[in-house]
Amino acid sequence: MLKKLLQSVRFPIFDSKPTFSTMNLPPLAGHMETRERLASAYRGGRLPQTLLFTGPAGVGKQRLALWLAQLIQCEGTALEPCGKCRGCRQALTLQHPDVHWLVPIPRPKAGDAGKQVEEAAESLAAVMEERRARPLYAPPDGMASHGVASARVLQRAASLTPVGRGPKVFIVGEAERLVPQESSPESANALLKLLEEPPADSVFILTAVDARRILPTIRSRAVPVRLGRLSDAEVRQFLRDEIRPPLDDTALDARVHQAAGSIGAAVAVADDGKTEEAARAILEAVLSGVGPRLERALKQQPWSARGEFSAVLDAVADTLGEAARGAMGEKVRRPVPAGLLGCEPKSLFQAMDRVSEAREAAYGNVNPQLLLAVLGEDLAALL
Ligand SMILES: [Zn+2]
Repeated sequence: MLKKLLQSVRFPIFDSKPTFSTMNLPPLAGHMETRERLASAYRGGRLPQTLLFTGPAGVGKQRLALWLAQLIQCEGTALEPCGKCRGCRQALTLQHPDVHWLVPIPRPKAGDAGKQVEEAAESLAAVMEERRARPLYAPPDGMASHGVASARVLQRAASLTPVGRGPKVFIVGEAERLVPQESSPESANALLKLLEEPPADSVFILTAVDARRILPTIRSRAVPVRLGRLSDAEVRQFLRDEIRPPLDDTALDARVHQAAGSIGAAVAVADDGKTEEAARAILEAVLSGVGPRLERALKQQPWSARGEFSAVLDAVADTLGEAARGAMGEKVRRPVPAGLLGCEPKSLFQAMDRVSEAREAAYGNVNPQLLLAVLGEDLAALL
């Protein structure tokens, strides 16, 4: 059934633009002194044109950069963005035309340089679409980088006149990835050209965990701003406000301890649990009959055909593998729906194959709701 679905992939439903909800960025936690210093510099006309935010992973370097971008676009005059004006609202929903956020992306596949730039622009737009819908994001794939095509996208945006009142803001997250290999420094060079003579009315903010891994020529042009780890109280407050469903006190303590001052780490832990839970819910629905199966498929968010949906499918395959261990009389290492333990190991392995086919399909332009509905029927026939 899945193969047939893939062959019929031209059906208009797959081409329709997904509808998605746009959420505000989560609040910036901590870094109060740095905020005040940056805001005073900006209000006093002393903000350097190129900044480099460094500090441990997950402490909010890119979030602080987005905060500064919001302040720059805010119509107010205070040391914190007002949060209400048009500029603030656009910045908070990642829709401000003068705020450009460059994140590492997979290397474009096209051979032609012009097409590579188009492909990079599309990948960047797709990442932003995901972040608008789910602002608490996981770190990018280890292979993702800022290639020369991304640097060209940035150059193109930098050549445009600002649309709004403030300067254009360019955020380059994980700037270490500007030189993914020693042998391909082109992207760093393209950015370097931009930083050597930054267009008037533009501010560049680079972020990196390790400044030593950034080309010295780029580093020497940026004013460093060092961010420390957050306090436990700040991480706790963030988790209390942002994590749904809320954690009980014991779970909250454990999470804060594990996070060690990094909201990124705290959220990554949160996501692991959620992905496994989503996988179990899908399998429970498969075992409960056609009604619950379709209901679960319809609940699948339509916008996230990439990373997150694939992660859930991986967790479904892992859970099936674990059930196969259980069915063969071995000890299971993670919770498995009880109904699966009575299945034949052979059927469970076949089910894992179906899931990996679905995972392949998830990389194509297939609607996740439909994919999950079809997968659910296939699994139900096997289990
Ligand atoms: Zn404002």
